Amino acid sequence: MLHVPGHDRTEIGQLHIGDTQKRGDVFVHRAALVKGRAPEPGEAVRISVDADRRKLIEGHHTVTHLLHWALHEVVSRNALQKGSYVGPDKLTFDFSSAPLTPEQKRHVEKLVNQKIAENAPVSWTEIPFGEAKQRKDIIQFFGEKYGDTVRVLQIGGEPRALNGYSMELCGGTHVRATGEIGPFRIVREEAIAAGTRRIEAVAGDAARAWAKEEAARQQEKFETLKRKKPDIPALPVFEIEAATTEMLQQIDARSVHFEKIDAEVREWEKKTAKTAEAELKSRAAQIANELARSHAEKNFCVADVPDADGKLLQAVVESLKGKIKGPIFLVGARDTSVALVAYVPKEMTTKFQANKVIQQIAPIVGGKGGGRPESAQGAGKDSSKIDQALAKARELLGAA
Ligand SMILES: [Zn+2]
Repeated sequence: MLHVPGHDRTEIGQLHIGDTQKRGDVFVHRAALVKGRAPEPGEAVRISVDADRRKLIEGHHTVTHLLHWALHEVVSRNALQKGSYVGPDKLTFDFSSAPLTPEQKRHVEKLVNQKIAENAPVSWTEIPFGEAKQRKDIIQFFGEKYGDTVRVLQIGGEPRALNGYSMELCGGTHVRATGEIGPFRIVREEAIAAGTRRIEAVAGDAARAWAKEEAARQQEKFETLKRKKPDIPALPVFEIEAATTEMLQQIDARSVHFEKIDAEVREWEKKTAKTAEAELKSRAAQIANELARSHAEKNFCVADVPDADGKLLQAVVESLKGKIKGPIFLVGARDTSVALVAYVPKEMTTKFQANKVIQQIAPIVGGKGGGRPESAQGAGKDSSKIDQALAKARELLGAA
């Protein structure tokens, strides 16, 4: 934030610092103006840091060190850092590795949270680069350009004694003790390139904000399930006043509950679909038997099936074609839609074509359709013209 000096500290603008580099004894900040105006040349301004934002970044940055350490403990010392992003809202950490198993992910998260709970001191000290290079326990990027003196960030151990469990060359901004980070949660683990994984995580107030958003997403998914099957048991409560650690536990409990009812609803849907399929077949067989009886004297079947859709008509044809020698034409109406189905035995397709029959009749009921010479379907939306459609079908197929 940019202020004009004085008692009231009037804010004139906001800068976004994109990069900081040490040039000799001077720190050079590269910044973009995001709000207000830039200082006039020669104008005196005071610069202050957005403390809340800074605190979130310090937490996310420091926990990145812990995450890096935990990945080495759980996955491998070869899980090399490929890049990272640290913001007030979240952090991401890219590393070379095979996909993490759910157990590894949980283990990493647990280790990091244990280290946060220990409230270990976070310290830093400067040593000659030549000395740092000899130390295998200090993580550093090979090929990266460091100055003659480097800053070692240490977590655990005695402050500045270089005996912590996590030691890395780092010029970033950190909390003073791990307890300041607050609860840590891995929210995603995914591939970003072959052999490179990305962990996305949140800590402290950002974890709290994530938990609230996640609770809302869970509720939305739950409502979708409930629309399918209204009698499913409700999600466990999510208390927005609870401590962040409890919130995260509630999220987990809700997630377990959701998976369970999701599986139950799927199973129920499968059963329902099977029952519906069986009912459709049995109803179709019954209709086909009646039609076979009433058309026993004829060598074709043109009929109207009450309250039928295309699916039922198709099933009736399947059942009827073994019982009748000639072509079949069925029409049905359900609500405002009209369904048409035509079938012609293969040996009769030189004389009649099901697709042509449908193409001629569908426009009568205000629709269209098509298919193959043996089998075709159509649909329309004018059920008042069903009698005309039947008459046309008798005219076309009656010569059989
Ligand atoms: Zn750092």
